Amino acid sequence: MSPSNDTAAPLVIVGAGQAGAMAARALRELGHAGELVLIGDEPHAPYERPPLSKAVLADEQLPDIGLLPEPFQVQAGVALKTGRRVVRLDPARRELHLEDGTIQPYRACLLATGGDARVLPSLPPGTPGVHYLRTLDDAQRLRASLRAARNLLVIGGGFLGLEIASTARALGLDVTVIELGPALLGRAVPPEVSRWLAARAQAHGVSLHLGAKLSDLAPVAGGIAATLADAGELRAERAVVAVGQVPCVALAREAGLLIDAGNGGIQVDARCRTSAEDVYAAGDCASGFDAATGTHRRLESWQNANEQARIAAAAMLGQDAEPSPPPWFWTDQFGCNIQMLGHGAPGLAYRLRGQLPEGREPGKAMLFGIDGDRLVHAIAINAGGDLRAFRGVLGRRLACPPETLADPAIPAKQLARLALGPASA
Ligand SMILES: Cc1cc2nc3c(=O)[nH]c(=O)nc-3n(C[C@H](O)[C@H](O)[C@H](O)COP(=O)(O)OP(=O)(O)OC[C@H]3O[C@@H](n4cnc5c(N)ncnc54)[C@H](O)[C@@H]3O)c2cc1C
Repeated sequence: MSPSNDTAAPLVIVGAGQAGAMAARALRELGHAGELVLIGDEPHAPYERPPLSKAVLADEQLPDIGLLPEPFQVQAGVALKTGRRVVRLDPARRELHLEDGTIQPYRACLLATGGDARVLPSLPPGTPGVHYLRTLDDAQRLRASLRAARNLLVIGGGFLGLEIASTARALGLDVTVIELGPALLGRAVPPEVSRWLAARAQAHGVSLHLGAKLSDLAPVAGGIAATLADAGELRAERAVVAVGQVPCVALAREAGLLIDAGNGGIQVDARCRTSAEDVYAAGDCASGFDAATGTHRRLESWQNANEQARIAAAAMLGQDAEPSPPPWFWTDQFGCNIQMLGHGAPGLAYRLRGQLPEGREPGKAMLFGIDGDRLVHAIAINAGGDLRAFRGVLGRRLACPPETLADPAIPAKQLARLALGPASA
């Protein structure tokens, strides 16, 4: 029997990260009783990445970040192969080729290969004092390195760069953030939140260079030097480069699978099916189908990895999955927990509920991004509990005037009911 019609062949997941581990769990929960193989190239069992820029850097003790505790993995019969890299996918023969020369046949295969940190050619990985952060090993190196340094340059003012800046400040380092764009998180949040966050970072002692004209960035004796057109040379003992992610799609591309020309992800349909039969993709590597807009989108978020894993697992078993909740993302920085529902977009009209906490003050606020009369984006600052009430409102036509959303006197649950209208009562 050729591997291509071997119905006894296992279900195989490539990439033992968030999506891979959650898909393995889901496959068992959905009743898959046959062989299940999870292959990852890292030396570790699957773990959560969000703590890598937060507690793993900050805490004295390494927190428990495991995703598939050994008892579960053993009891559920997940054949976890760590430290093993898949180098070729052969969809015609339904085979995966591993770096060590072994061949893994599959009945259905899920690509959950995530992404790599985007590299700046002038500061390649391995340059003394220079760090990239994607894996637990990266985090352990950065953690040790920060503890032996007085100052840090962060290249990139996105979520990751800002979280690292925040953690490094809390560890007592002098921190400078260089962002080439004119605003922090410019594509994800409205200008008022960008400005607020910049002020918050500065109140925590971070030196910010926005719209930076970086003319040179290079290793120098004892550290790294960045030359800015308007600020001259900035030096630090350490630098973290956090300038985005490149999805890991080499296996898919070389196997001829459809790659999204816009975002570089492996294109999948609403059930996470790629263009090759019985090959699925989920998580950061996948360009998922967004039914609300009829377009493809590649998301780099914990929730998206979990959701696509669940959907792909169901599809691999020929089952339908429950619809996904609205996209949700969180970040912790400068003493604030920031959560978002939906996606920001240029031209949304934002309503502020409460007051953005000033300086280093605690405090909570929400912003509602409205497109016409629909709520499409909601941001909660230290108000995650309140945000939850609006999950059902997202994408819906508002039944109350938008300005009602700005009224902090109305409790969040009641406000969400008003926004949904009488049908929600
Ligand atoms: C430092 C950090 C902080 C984050 N913080 C947040 C946050 O606060 N909130 C949030 O919503 N999201 C956050 N994220 C994003 C979130 O963690 C990711 O979106 C999520 O991990 C994606 O899951 P994934 O399974 O697609 O990829 P990953 O978790 O990256 O897993 C992919 C795995 O596949 C392996 N792999 C790749 N190619 C191969 C191959 N050929 N053979 C075998 N194995 C392979 C990789 O080594 C990796 O282990 C953070 C990410 C990072 C890195």
